[in-house]
Amino acid sequence: MESKPQALSACIICHAERAQGIRICGQFICLDCERDIVHSDVNDAYYQHYVKEMKRIWLSALSM
Ligand SMILES: [Zn+2]
Repeated sequence: MESKPQALSACIICHAERAQGIRICGQFICLDCERDIVHSDVNDAYYQHYVKEMKRIWLSALSM
């Protein structure tokens, strides 16, 4: 029996193809990024990048 490969989704934050992560408004965030977001500080450059990406998601979700 062949094991079925898990479908990969491109993370909207790091753009890596990952099998595991969360979906928000049809957008995918990998587990690594989700963990980084949870542990990042508001003044973090990473957090700023995340906020920018999330804004893009909300806007595309609203325009649907
Ligand atoms: Zn990611």
